[in-house]
Amino acid sequence: MKKNTKTKKITIITLIILSFIINSIASFSYSENNENKKLQNKSYQLEDLLNLRVLIDKIEIKDVSLSIKGSNISLKYSTEEFPTIYQGGFSLANQITILSLHPYLKFFYDQNYYDEKNIPNYKDIMILSSNYLEYKNKKYRGKFLITKKNDGYYLINLVSMDDYLKSVVPSEMPASWELEALKAQAIIARTYAIRVTIERRKKQEIFDLYSTVLDQAYYGMDKENPKTNLAVEQTKDIIIIHNNKPIWALYHSNCGGKTIEGKLVFSNRLEENENYLQSINCPFEGRRWKNIIELYTLKKILEKTTKNQIYSINKIYTENFRIYIVYNQNYIYSLPNWQLRKLIGYNVIRSPYITKIEILQDKVIFEGIGAGHGVGLCQFGANTLAKMNFNYEEIIKYYYKEIQLTDIKRWLENANI
Ligand SMILES: [Zn+2]
Repeated sequence: MKKNTKTKKITIITLIILSFIINSIASFSYSENNENKKLQNKSYQLEDLLNLRVLIDKIEIKDVSLSIKGSNISLKYSTEEFPTIYQGGFSLANQITILSLHPYLKFFYDQNYYDEKNIPNYKDIMILSSNYLEYKNKKYRGKFLITKKNDGYYLINLVSMDDYLKSVVPSEMPASWELEALKAQAIIARTYAIRVTIERRKKQEIFDLYSTVLDQAYYGMDKENPKTNLAVEQTKDIIIIHNNKPIWALYHSNCGGKTIEGKLVFSNRLEENENYLQSINCPFEGRRWKNIIELYTLKKILEKTTKNQIYSINKIYTENFRIYIVYNQNYIYSLPNWQLRKLIGYNVIRSPYITKIEILQDKVIFEGIGAGHGVGLCQFGANTLAKMNFNYEEIIKYYYKEIQLTDIKRWLENANI
């Protein structure tokens, strides 16, 4: 018995020593792993870039009444103390109604308003569902995050890149178009999203992309279509780079026969060596437009921008993508056509390609070709090229110069962002 106890003791001591050795090896390799992690964290991890935060809505503090539908919907929340840990219950409800976000969170599931819950001192809210989340008649994949900023609450959709693109591609280009044009659209939408996400995260913004034409139209999963899904899947992870950096993959509806050099319109977005947005001839002729505005409206706009009293507008003409307005007999106000679009309205001056301006009594008639800003890929042109048997790579290289297509994983290995 005694001997046995001794052996046991020795065994225990040996085990302790062994576990100490193992532990120190383990902690050594752990700290080494940590170093590696730190190094990787300097640039982006792939999962980070392929998980997007898309702004769906901005909610004023005073008029909160949010209704979100789904299946097995649940709400979780974090606190200032533990901002990344979400707590809260799971529910079998199909709807959640949030009545107040301030000063405390107040909500109920389904129609059980008598079972109203109040949560004080929370930070962010996460809303989950086992299938989709429906908000303001649109269904979304992924999760919702509700987060506060000084000017209100932001409803953000946390969604994977692929799910995001499956809604964006058919929102930006008709699914009935040629498959190769749709593939080109998938790649440029992916590249645009990556570039914008990198820029906004550098500025530590709370979301990556707007869900409107401010960035790219993202109207949820009802837009999804088998053909555009295929375009997204068959181009999975492909992005466009220039000097080893994802490009500003700008695009527009139709250019009117010739695209516009990027630096003319978007000089603030493009770096010195980013010269891939050149002016090129396009195979699509362009759609003509004609719109009329009141001379009085133009006078008011001019008064605001020139800060002068405008007595008369005598003549308007355009030359080299600039507008010249002769007013008060011999004063001239001139501005680039894309700035005139911003002043008068993008739907009135449909493109910077203005062909004719005429003053007729108290009206001004504008005529032009094309739709959109005219920079980068022309969507109608891309579809025309696809009909001429260009593949997606040839279409992209037609509109963006000195670029390469690459897999995002391969790019990230040597990325410096
Ligand atoms: Zn075109």
